[in-house]
Amino acid sequence: MINCLFWIMKKGMSNFNPCTDSYKILCWHLTKKCTQNCEFCLSQSNSLNKINDLKEYKKIINIIKELGFDKISYSGGEPFIVPIFEELVNYGKELKLTQIVTTNGDCLSKGLKNIEFLKKFQYIKLSFYGLQNYHDQLIKKGHFQQLINLLHILQSNTVKVGINYMLTKQSYFELPYFLEYISKFRLYNLLIQSYIPTGNFKIDNKYQINDESNINLSFLSSYKYNFEQGIKYFNYNIKEGFQVILDEKLNLYFPNQNIFEYGNIFETEKYFEGLGIIYLKELIEHTVQKRISSNSIIIY
Ligand code: SF4
Repeated sequence: MINCLFWIMKKGMSNFNPCTDSYKILCWHLTKKCTQNCEFCLSQSNSLNKINDLKEYKKIINIIKELGFDKISYSGGEPFIVPIFEELVNYGKELKLTQIVTTNGDCLSKGLKNIEFLKKFQYIKLSFYGLQNYHDQLIKKGHFQQLINLLHILQSNTVKVGINYMLTKQSYFELPYFLEYISKFRLYNLLIQSYIPTGNFKIDNKYQINDESNINLSFLSSYKYNFEQGIKYFNYNIKEGFQVILDEKLNLYFPNQNIFEYGNIFETEKYFEGLGIIYLKELIEHTVQKRISSNSIIIY
């Protein structure tokens, strides 16, 4: 569920760094199903994904590769809930795609059966929402410590770990303290992300910072050397910076283009009223170029 607030535009200079980031990244929301049920979640945590057949998944990975993507970022819902996720990632690796995954850690915390599988990701992103009390209040009691325990286990098995941190009215004030705490781990990177509105006024009003352009994040630079690949801030309020999104029903979204909802990934060209035939590969290339020149990502 992607809503109209994505379309807000702002001005500024781009700090996107080609050395540390892939532009040709596809954000694949593999499933809406999750082990949690956060009220601010865009996936609503309850729908099942459409496919569970490896043959079908392989076809999709082939298309992703043919379309020119070089990186897949898996998210959800909770990607590790998908029964054949491991086979899917193995196949992506065979095709030399860089793969990362964002997880709430619940499935992995039940026991890491296959470390070699986890090493196939460039890194695993664990999602934090604030310091322990606030994080636990939003997710569930004990979840913060569960993630820290998982982080230790992953690192002791030489799996690279990055952190996602969602900025909300509360977590913004906790960020300096969170940084102090998390900096002691030698993490791959830290991605600070703006809140993505759900479209529900009551919920969004509770979490979303009123004007994110007014907040001061300059203190992040003094922590960048604590992370192997530094710190990034991703402002989702700037539509130009969005990557291409593939949802669990295999529909493609281009939040940074006029064609917002393209349709099925297997339709490599499509007619749009008033625009004529649009070639998917070209649309992806335009999206990549827009990202490069946008100011939505700041690297510290
Ligand atoms: S843990 Fe993440 S994916 Fe799961 S319900 Fe919460 S926000 Fe959504």
